[in-house]
Amino acid sequence: MSPGGPPSRGGTLLLAPLDLRDYLLALMEPLLPGQLLAPWLRFSGASTELGLRLTFLAHERHEVHVEVSPREQGQKYAAQSPRLAFAYRHGGAERVDQQLGRLVCLAVAAHVAPREQLVLDRLAASASETLEGSTRIRKIHTTRLLEPAGTPDQRFYTLSPYLGCLIGCRFCYAQSRLDPQRALLRLPVVPWGSYVDARVNAPEVLAEELRTLPPRPIKFCPIVSDPYQAVERTMLLTRRCLEVIARAPAPPPTLIMTRATLMLRDLDLLRSIPEAWVGASIPTLDDDVRAHFEPRAASIPERLEMLRAFRDAGVKRVVVVQPMLPGDPEALADALAQVTSSVSLGVLRGELGAQDDFADPRYAFAREEPWQTRTALALRDALLRRGVSVWLGELPPELLPHGAS
Ligand code: SF4
Repeated sequence: MSPGGPPSRGGTLLLAPLDLRDYLLALMEPLLPGQLLAPWLRFSGASTELGLRLTFLAHERHEVHVEVSPREQGQKYAAQSPRLAFAYRHGGAERVDQQLGRLVCLAVAAHVAPREQLVLDRLAASASETLEGSTRIRKIHTTRLLEPAGTPDQRFYTLSPYLGCLIGCRFCYAQSRLDPQRALLRLPVVPWGSYVDARVNAPEVLAEELRTLPPRPIKFCPIVSDPYQAVERTMLLTRRCLEVIARAPAPPPTLIMTRATLMLRDLDLLRSIPEAWVGASIPTLDDDVRAHFEPRAASIPERLEMLRAFRDAGVKRVVVVQPMLPGDPEALADALAQVTSSVSLGVLRGELGAQDDFADPRYAFAREEPWQTRTALALRDALLRRGVSVWLGELPPELLPHGAS
């Protein structure tokens, strides 16, 4: 194996130039997904969709995600190895007992410690970056694309042709997920919104996975990117993945959401998928507010116009309102009721890079939790009065088959 090359997995040299998931799996070697790390702890798999995550089943009942990040001085973690830190999150509906979460992290840290030096050094050596103008675009290969997600009784897959986002909304939660990945790759610290990793073989991997994995609904880009950000104009990875889905013998239900209007390009393609849903995030009706918080995203009138076009073409639509931003909830409910009958609501979960945006005296009140909650409730009531269904979570209830697993 050449220095800086990818690690081996199960004794097989991986040919893909770089995908962090493979390095996560290499940290767990010689253990493979499905095998026991301890008599009470089964290793289920690795994912980079929602951060660097290893998943386990404790006592064959409790799904526990272990989040991996570079170790930082002065931070507290559930467990640490010499170079990495480990925290836990519950996987199913049930919360993970603190003691159990910590035990899982300790077991993982002990397993990872002897091999992390080798894996992390190879990872750093193999990280290369292509600079295009002021934008950092890396082309990477992936060995897996569809990521199991959801709760045990409502399983679906996430699909992200891109990691990172050039739209760069400053409150975007993706930055907190992707920053640890970049730190592990020893990539330069650059502002959120100026980099993206493109999984250039995504359509080919998807075609194979649709043939071999159990059928489940697919949700594009749940958090780590926007499927229609600027690079998609030339890279066409989202479009080619949709083509693969449309050509499948039994195309799975598919949800794709964006803050960009490029999705209109794929209207005919989306219309050809029997159970396709499209969506947009519309956190306010006031485009001045939108321009303040999401300067590089499509305007609100453009997003509404896009949804009207999909409505007229007979494609099902959802809207996500998250976080709550200043504006009249009744007017927003009026506008949304004209383009969708299904809305997901969510409040601000941390300002992240948007502290300066919220520090503006015109908008400072919107950062307060009571205002977020009050506005979400007012909007919910206004939507329900207009016959729009309101849901929380990852997928509209209509998209999940009853008893899906
Ligand atoms: S468009 Fe979505 S993924 Fe991209 S920066 Fe904005 S919130 Fe994040």
